[in-house]
This record gives sequence, C-alpha cells and structure tokens, in this order.
Amino acid sequence: MQPSRIAIAGCGPAGLAAALALHRQGHRVALFDRFAAPQPLGSGLMLQPSGMAVLNALGLASEVAACAAPIERLYGLGADGRRVLDARYDELAGPRSLGLGIHRASLFDVLHRAVSVERIEITPDHEITGSHIGRGERWLVFAGGRLAGPFDLVIDALGLHTPLAPPCGRALRFGALWTTLPWPADGPFRRNRLEQRYRAAREMVGVLPTGHRPGHGDELALFWSLPADGHQGWLARGLDAWREEVAALWPECAALAAHVTDPAQVTFARYAHRSLPNPAHERLIHIGDAWHTASPQLGQGANMALLDAWGVAEAMRLSRDPRAVPALTVQLRGAHVALYQAATAFFTPLYQSNAALPALVRDRLFAPASRLWPGKTIQALLMSGLLGAPLARLGLERVDYDRLFSVASDHQH
Ligand SMILES: Cc1cc2nc3c(=O)[nH]c(=O)nc-3n(C[C@H](O)[C@H](O)[C@H](O)COP(=O)(O)OP(=O)(O)OC[C@H]3O[C@@H](n4cnc5c(N)ncnc54)[C@H](O)[C@@H]3O)c2cc1C
Repeated sequence: MQPSRIAIAGCGPAGLAAALALHRQGHRVALFDRFAAPQPLGSGLMLQPSGMAVLNALGLASEVAACAAPIERLYGLGADGRRVLDARYDELAGPRSLGLGIHRASLFDVLHRAVSVERIEITPDHEITGSHIGRGERWLVFAGGRLAGPFDLVIDALGLHTPLAPPCGRALRFGALWTTLPWPADGPFRRNRLEQRYRAAREMVGVLPTGHRPGHGDELALFWSLPADGHQGWLARGLDAWREEVAALWPECAALAAHVTDPAQVTFARYAHRSLPNPAHERLIHIGDAWHTASPQLGQGANMALLDAWGVAEAMRLSRDPRAVPALTVQLRGAHVALYQAATAFFTPLYQSNAALPALVRDRLFAPASRLWPGKTIQALLMSGLLGAPLARLGLERVDYDRLFSVASDHQH
C-alpha cells in the first residue's frame, strides 16, 4: 500500500491509538495538540473488555494491566440498603473478563510512551481552529491562521468541543465531582469492585479503584453526582457541608471525603449527550468524543474512542484508499456507536435525575430483572462494551484476563 500522509488532531486515547495503528501500517502520521507538554487530565476511568481488545492488538494490554485495578463487579446500594446494581463480568461466556479501573494519566502514559518509542511526530502547542480542502487535499488551520498540510486524511480526535464539527446534542442535567485519593490501607473498600450508593437518583457517591500511578501508590477515584448548574452552590456551601452529605449517604466514605481539604482537589465534570449526524467528510473523519459523547454512566467513552481509532486503521487496511476511509469507518463503527448512544441515553436518568419515577423503575424493575437470566448476561455484555459484537467486524479478539495478569505481574516484578 502507498503510504498516506495522515494528520491526527488531538492526543487523547483516540488520537494516540489511531497514530500507533496507522504508523504501524507504514503511513506518515503527524499528531497535533494544543497542550504545551504532553499531559493527561482528569481522574479515573474504566477500561472495558472492548477497549482492552484494542490495547491488546496494539501490544499494550499487559503494560496497561500492570498499573490498573482489576474490577470483577459493579455494585450499588440504595440509601435503604436495597441492592440496586450488581453487574458481574463473570456472567460473560468465553475467556475470563474483567473491567480495569485506571487513572487517565496511566492510560495516557502507556499510549504516549509507545508513540514516542516509535518516533511518531507530535506537534504540541498548536490550537486547531479548523480544516479545509484545497486542491483536493485536506489542510489543518491553527490559531493565528497558520496551516499544516496537505494531508490525504485528517482524523479529528479533539474530543467533545472539537472545532472541526458544528456543535450538536445537549448538555445533561447532571455532572459529577471527581477526585483521586490514596487507597486507604485499612479502609472498608474492596479492590475488585466499583461501588456506588444512591438516594433515589438525586444523589450518588461512588468509589472506583484506579490501580497505581508511578510515585503515587494505590489510588481510587471518589465521585459525587451534582446537577450541572450546582457547582457554584456546592462551592458556596463549603466542604464541611459536602462531607456531611457524603457521610450521610455512605458513612464509610467520610474518611475519604476528609482528605479533600481544598475545592481545587476536586474536578467538576459536566456531561453532554451528542452524536454527529455525519462524522464522515471528504478526507476527514471524526472519532472518539469528537464523534459521540455520552454520560459516563456505562463507562464506555475511552473504550469507544479506542474502538473508533482501530476502526479507522481497519478501514485504511481494507480500502487502501484514504478517500474511502471516512465512510468505511462509519460502516465499521456506526451501528455500535448508535446502540451505546441509545443505551446510555436510556440508562443515565435511572442514576442521575431529580424525578422519583426513574429510580423507582430502576429499583423495582431493572434491578430484579438484572439478577435473572437473560438480564444478567445482557447487563454484563452492555457494561463490557461487547453488546452488538463490535470486535468481530474490526478483526479484534477478546482478551483472556487470566493470561494477561500472569504477563502483567511479570511486568511489575
Ligand atoms: C469525569 C469523567 C469520567 C469518565 N469515565 C469514563 C469511564 O469510566 N470509562 C470510559 O471509557 N470513559 C470515561 N469517560 C470518557 C472518556 O474520558 C472520554 O470518552 C475519552 O477521553 C475520549 O477520548 P478522545 O481521545 O476522543 O478525546 P479526549 O480525551 O478529550 O482528547 C482530546 C485531545 O484533543 C486536544 N484538543 C482539544 N481541543 C483542541 C484544539 N482545539 N486544538 C488542539 N488540541 C485540542 C486535547 O488537549 C486532548 O489531548 C469519562 C469522562 C469524564 C469527563
């Protein structure tokens, strides 16, 4: 195949994974980001079997597993002690599956290190403002009017606020506060669970083990649901009031919340539900959050971004023509994206809403149904990112976690 000149806009999980996959096919890949020096933002996230299939195909699964926390179960109780959520990866048939709790910085480090080792060019400090077609090829436009190009293909991996696509979708009514804290050695939390507590769907507190970043030891992400317009009020009420609310909903979290002594330790994340009506244009494809975003209730965002990245590379491998790649990527990924966008839109209000009905439906209908067959299997498929069989059409295989962790422990020692 003739090497193509490919610009990748954005060095998040989508951009870095796409860069690796396309570089290894022999293409000339250039990455651009606005950060002055490579830097990850945010707290923890869950890597699902879907996203791990991509990292495995990139040869990075054991490195990622070595700094992540293996999660066997998502478990949530109502304020009245009722079991509201109990989703287990071992309900999946086939090789042993797990979720992996990981700090975003750890995931970024693994991908960024691989990109650096392969000497893929990253141009930092470049704020992208647009792109255009000139003489049949695509160019990137930066703040101040500078240009880069021409490119046979531009991949937009600029995330939720991409300037390469018109705004669309809607902001969600709830977001969440996130903070990363040291894992309490003598604490009551289980290392193999993402756990949550709810008061109806109005309040939610959660703990996600996130493994260990070098120099930090074992950590967890503590998150607290908050209305999208509630951040100023939260700041005004002060940390003491918040710590009391946390302790009232999940007393075991009181000691964790006590570690938060400055609001700057906590990031407020607003969520949006959006999906571009047309992610494929002439020599331009939007992937990851630039294509679609949803609330993190189902924990899929980074995983969908990784699948999209692999989808672009697979489209390039299959078509051998950069002009055909945008449409083919949508063919490979569109149905799975649409399925998870619909599922997330449906399930989010059950966990984040001021209305009483969604929580009632969750507790009385979905929670009991999810403990029976086939509900428990569908639930496991849904959370693992595997509903709709996204891997087969991308030529990917599921990871065997037993094998993975024996290799990962070799990595650690
Ligand atoms: C609080 C929270 C919790 C989450 N939890 C989960 C979870 O459990 N599981 C999960 O899978 N996902 C989760 N997500 C979602 C996940 O983080 C995103 O879906 C994922 O990071 C998307 O990757 P991306 O590469 O598409 O975009 P991003 O990670 O947003 O990367 C975009 C990159 O583009 C750069 N950039 C942006 N604009 C410009 C510009 N104009 N010019 C130049 N560079 C630019 C940025 O600097 C960044 O490097 C969560 C998200 C949030 C906010």
